Amino acid sequence: MAKGRIEVLEQYCKSCGLCVAACPQKVLRISERTNAKGYRPVEQFKEGCIGCAMCAMMCPDAAIEVFKTQE
Ligand code: SF4
Ligand code: SF4
Repeated sequence: MAKGRIEVLEQYCKSCGLCVAACPQKVLRISERTNAKGYRPVEQFKEGCIGCAMCAMMCPDAAIEVFKTQE
């Protein structure tokens, strides 16, 4: 199965939750931390990312980068 990894550019995240809802693997959640603008950035909280990039496509603030690690 495909595998991937994401990086959240926390300074851009506005906690809208669109990526959380879009992720088919349900590996994202809003974190407890706050970024410099006072929003709680998204984090990946468990294994299972498949690198589908749905989260990055949904994000209005380009706050997620996706990397495929295995086809
Ligand atoms: S790349 Fe796909 S599986 Fe990975 S966190 Fe984003 S939406 Fe979820
Ligand atoms: S879609 Fe983008 S801005 Fe919205 S919660 Fe996810 S990473 Fe943050």
